[in-house]
Amino acid sequence: MTDLLPSDTASSALPQSTPPHVIAPGLAGRLARRAITSPGAQTYDCVTPLTGGVLGSLPQSTVSDVETAYKAARTAQSRWAGLPPQRRVVFLRRLHDLVLDQQAELMDLIQLESGKTRVQAFEEVLDVAGVSRHYARKGPSYLATHRRLGALPLLSQSRELRHPKGVVGIVAPWNYPLSMSITDALPALVAGNAVVLRPDNRSALTALRAIELIDRAGLPEGVLQVVLGDGPTVGNAVLERADYVMFTGSTATGRTVAARAGERLVGASLELGGKNPMYVADDADVEAAAECAVRAMFSSAGQLCISIERLILHERVADEFLKVFVPRVKAMKLGADLDWGNDMGSLISAEQLAKVTEHVDDAVAHGATVLAGGKARPDLGPYFYEPTVLDGVQESMQVCRNETFGPVVSVYRVSSDAEAIAMANDTDYGLNASVWTRDTARGRRIGNRIRCGTVNVNEGYAAAWASNGAPMGGMKQSGLGRRHGAEGIQKFTESQNVTVQHGPGFAIPKGISQKTWARAMTAGLKVMKKAGLS
Ligand code: NAD
Repeated sequence: MTDLLPSDTASSALPQSTPPHVIAPGLAGRLARRAITSPGAQTYDCVTPLTGGVLGSLPQSTVSDVETAYKAARTAQSRWAGLPPQRRVVFLRRLHDLVLDQQAELMDLIQLESGKTRVQAFEEVLDVAGVSRHYARKGPSYLATHRRLGALPLLSQSRELRHPKGVVGIVAPWNYPLSMSITDALPALVAGNAVVLRPDNRSALTALRAIELIDRAGLPEGVLQVVLGDGPTVGNAVLERADYVMFTGSTATGRTVAARAGERLVGASLELGGKNPMYVADDADVEAAAECAVRAMFSSAGQLCISIERLILHERVADEFLKVFVPRVKAMKLGADLDWGNDMGSLISAEQLAKVTEHVDDAVAHGATVLAGGKARPDLGPYFYEPTVLDGVQESMQVCRNETFGPVVSVYRVSSDAEAIAMANDTDYGLNASVWTRDTARGRRIGNRIRCGTVNVNEGYAAAWASNGAPMGGMKQSGLGRRHGAEGIQKFTESQNVTVQHGPGFAIPKGISQKTWARAMTAGLKVMKKAGLS
């Protein structure tokens, strides 16, 4: 057995001869060397929610370490920004392959840190590969300089340029240890920024391993800095020094993060919570919808921001749908194995378990019916909770409007598309929605009227999320800004208009009165309108 993650050719982070749910001794220490910390730093014990066992310990950064990280990032950034975008994307092409090649080891770490199943860990591998490939191919064109129509045709020659913001501060959450930790950093880097990243302690091992792969892929030293620590102190210190703020987490924390960014007048992108609806219309393929619903509601035990928590059924198919769906939920295989085959894993922590339990117990106490699940499963692991379907949920129940961020879905019935749309929109959130109908034109029509950043027709969340060329993010209280596509990289830039003026331009020619000049300009504007110049 080696005391490190053996080598990049090894297939697993787990030493073969030791019990499961541990990592190789020394791995945490090796990975932590990439983070900025000081001698004698306080430490954080990484615990796997699958068993409650300690995986290793990680040193914690201080505010002064965050200062150090920013200093180094600023130094590295100017050299990095001097490279053309075509050169800056080269590391992404290599990262794409490295992540796919090292997937077994990454999935072990993801599962150990988050408690999710292997297939859900694989989703994160796919996501990182997809984002890397997309920005490797499209990044340079998203950042290209464009000619724009000038004020005076031919005489005013405008160019729109995109400059990096400088150093982007990223606070990443725990729920997608690989994907959420690095996929925002990738476009920020391609745009010519340096990044100071604070992954959540609960997902830091995966994040640090991914950063090793980014380094191996050829990102120059200094451009991506990592600090470790809690949110209120270290995370806040990262965001307070940033030239642009990238935050993912709850709406409550996002609001304070946005307020602070507003005080400093720096931009912020916020990916926040949701109470996401799925509507099954009366012409839906009920079998397919029920199969997808299981994935869309219980992936990562519902700890997915775009997970479905409200199931809106057209009354004409409600009974038929539930007849297929509920037995499927009851048959889901729960387990803590670091192997393929399970349908759902564990919640992340005692706090998440307490919140899920509270939402379900409160609903039941106020008259809701449990169609499936409804209880913790300590026999499987300390934080397991059954996938749960509630019927008869009323306004007075906590689960009705508050995000559970767990494996709990509430069933509602409607008699028309209009009623379904109104119900889907009757929330402060607007992150993701799913619509099921055999008539895709009808699906698009319904989708267009749902106030969510992504709408999946005949899918739960994966289709829109994985469409990396199109924007993804929240409306209303679900956030500001977008990931993916042009917006997902251009937000990390400052646009600039450099216009060269030729000829007499705006100066009033000698010998012409201001009044005559104004008349001539008025006539000129009318001609421009007729000519279709704007
Ligand atoms: P949270 O807001 O408590 O914490 C999120 C992250 O912010 C954590 O890593 C935490 O350490 C950090 N943090 C806390 N206080 C901070 C502060 N003052 N300054 C800077 N950072 C701070 O949320 P949570 O309960 O841990 O995570 C679940 C929430 O995150 C859910 O609401 C979920 O919907 C949301 N989420 C959204 C997305 C998305 O893409 N929209 C993705 C994942 C999670």
